Amino acid sequence: MLNFPFSAGESDLRLAIVECGRIAYERHLMTSNDGNISIRMDDGLILITPSGLSKGRLSTDDLIVVDIEGNLISARADRKPSSETPMHLEVYKSREDVHAVVHAHPLFATTLTVAGLEFPIDVLPEVLLTLGEVPITDYATPASHEDAVVIRPFLKEYNALLLRQHGSLTYGKNLDEALIHLERIEHVSEVYWRAKMLGTVKRVPLEAQEKLIAMRDQFLKG
Ligand SMILES: [Zn+2]
Repeated sequence: MLNFPFSAGESDLRLAIVECGRIAYERHLMTSNDGNISIRMDDGLILITPSGLSKGRLSTDDLIVVDIEGNLISARADRKPSSETPMHLEVYKSREDVHAVVHAHPLFATTLTVAGLEFPIDVLPEVLLTLGEVPITDYATPASHEDAVVIRPFLKEYNALLLRQHGSLTYGKNLDEALIHLERIEHVSEVYWRAKMLGTVKRVPLEAQEKLIAMRDQFLKG
């Protein structure tokens, strides 16, 4: 369901966001009422989660439709757009190929940014093979327009970012892709943290790193 085609109807896309929210909440990627999920629909309008609700317990009629400038198109009277909507719109404006955006507050990945550590690109081969570098943005005040500004320099080149002392931003051609990036970021961050606690962090050997990067480039081109 999360792996929807571009032509999917709005009712299916609403179900996909509800399902993505349930998975992200149950995997502890969005605690409390944190995070937000959006999809760019076939007609260019954006379907997005509302402000203040837990993403684990959404209904399809909780979701809001806005245009690319953030103007409200439709919503239940008691539902307001998320204050983090401008960050989602910034991604869609920069990337024609993106149809789904997930902003989360994953525990281990967010902790890295609080500790002032880089994202560990080279400790698990699948990160080199699929994600590559995950840049960490400058600090921005959450729920302000600053979020949209700090992500701007990275959007064209990357599909996953960490927002300093805040959370993550992942995106792709559908929600499945955005969620896979998010889960991978959190998994490697937790492995890295646990390895540090045990004392040693082994890196993927340099020669193998080059091979993985070449395979990824080949895959992206093909
Ligand atoms: Zn947030």
